[in-house]
Amino acid sequence: MAEGQEKRADLVVFDADPAKVYRDLIDEQHRKKWTNRRIDRLTYSMGLFVWYFGTSRSYPEVKHHTILMGETFKDLLEEIYDQKVLSDDLSLYLHRPAATDSTMAPAGGDAFYVLAPVPNKQASIDWKEAGERIRLQVEQQLESTLLPELSTCIEVSHFVTPDDFEGKFNTLWGCGFSIAPLFTQSAWFRFHNKSEELENLYFCGSGTHPGAGVPGVVASARVIEKLVPPARDDCMSDLKKLFCSKSKTFSLASLLLPKAQADAVFRLYFICRTLDDWADEGNADLLRDAMDAWQNNLPHDLLDHYRFLQARWGLDSKPLTELMQAMLMEQQSVRMDSEAQLLEYCHGVAGTIGLMLCPIFGVKDKKALEHANNLGIAMQLTNICRDVFEDAENDRIYLPADLFSSALTTADLTSGDCDSREACTAAKVRLLQMADELYTRADAGIDYLPLRIRIVVRWASRMYREIGNVIRTEPEHFHENRAIVKQPKKMFFLIKCITRSLYKK
Ligand SMILES: Cc1cc2nc3c(=O)[nH]c(=O)nc-3n(C[C@H](O)[C@H](O)[C@H](O)COP(=O)(O)OP(=O)(O)OC[C@H]3O[C@@H](n4cnc5c(N)ncnc54)[C@H](O)[C@@H]3O)c2cc1C
Repeated sequence: MAEGQEKRADLVVFDADPAKVYRDLIDEQHRKKWTNRRIDRLTYSMGLFVWYFGTSRSYPEVKHHTILMGETFKDLLEEIYDQKVLSDDLSLYLHRPAATDSTMAPAGGDAFYVLAPVPNKQASIDWKEAGERIRLQVEQQLESTLLPELSTCIEVSHFVTPDDFEGKFNTLWGCGFSIAPLFTQSAWFRFHNKSEELENLYFCGSGTHPGAGVPGVVASARVIEKLVPPARDDCMSDLKKLFCSKSKTFSLASLLLPKAQADAVFRLYFICRTLDDWADEGNADLLRDAMDAWQNNLPHDLLDHYRFLQARWGLDSKPLTELMQAMLMEQQSVRMDSEAQLLEYCHGVAGTIGLMLCPIFGVKDKKALEHANNLGIAMQLTNICRDVFEDAENDRIYLPADLFSSALTTADLTSGDCDSREACTAAKVRLLQMADELYTRADAGIDYLPLRIRIVVRWASRMYREIGNVIRTEPEHFHENRAIVKQPKKMFFLIKCITRSLYKK
């Protein structure tokens, strides 16, 4: 770095001009393709003279974009590229943003920039001397055409020349658009987004594939977004192992997912599982630290994985905030006053997971997001009914108080008291019925998903719903014992879900 400081990084993405980066920042001994000789033989785009100015009067008749062709415009390109001299008959692009947005200039005044293509710094032009001269030339040209009395009403003025493009923006030869867009320097022939020279070096921006201009530059950033993740896959096998060891049902389902999406699911699982473990183990400090880092946008080992998913798949921030809020709330002993409070909690700890998964599965439709939230809530209600005994042992009662005639204690749930068991079973049946309604509603949302994911989600939903059926068959037995779906039934559901998903859409 400029101050001699050294910083290490797993990968580097340069938005700076790649010709300049290779030529001046990477020692030639590390370059096989982009040697200095090859870089020097490329054709470079023009230089730009850009004059920004504000006037004390307004020019309402001037449009947002105006191109002013000089009389000798056909010769201009030759002067710029071949003769490398400054023309005395410039062609100009005049930009007047206040034409479409009045806030771009103060009342009664106006604001402009004017751009003149000029030779880049391969020409021997002394811009310290030529800058003001060209500005005056442009001023006179505008005054005699589009902007009468210009010279008398300039309030502010600033111009940039190829010197600035070279010195401030670091482009080779001070050119305006990196290498010129000739056929042999366009698209695939431009600098590649993944460097051929160094591992984990990437480029985006105007010098790279697909090309200069804002749409091209944005497209290059999207290419980078796709290229970079594999370079961060070093921890992927650990995340996959964790997923498969902890979640047997879903690990089978994940086999149906395309690799990129499966990897994203493993990563998301790792984040949520870790937060969940912290919550279960009473590590409130770790949760609070995470929330603090999240809200203040600070680096955080775990949440950086979520930020990575956000960059790669466009996950929203809100579900993670709500998830952590719900988990922090659980850190005190849990009591739910009402069904409404329970549903809000279920949204926080599970509906949010559905919302996080949607972008990974390519779903953005608002209705689909609602279904995903419902499915998460339904699954959480099922979990709650399955784990009543275990939760009570941990001083957590999720069954809402408004389903009981008198206040429920953890002892009521862990003892064999018949009345309490009966009331508890009735509450579970009520919650499982609510869950069933949500599963049915969420089912409509599953059709928004791509086929393979549709199968996986439908299968997961069906199996969770079945846990509720298992509890209902023998509520006494499954009060203390964990209700599960047996393997043959899982396979039976899988076949049904495949058939249904294939024929549905
Ligand atoms: C006056 C003008 C008008 C334009 N009008 C249009 C238009 O109407 N439509 C259109 O599509 N395109 C237009 N363009 C082109 C478009 O703006 C560019 O192609 C695009 O902005 C380039 O984006 P970029 O990210 O490649 O480079 P930049 O936006 O230039 O960003 C590169 C950044 O990297 C920084 N940098 C360089 N070296 C280093 C380093 N070593 N370390 C850290 N940072 C570094 C630079 O300072 C710079 O901020 C115009 C360009 C100009 C100059």
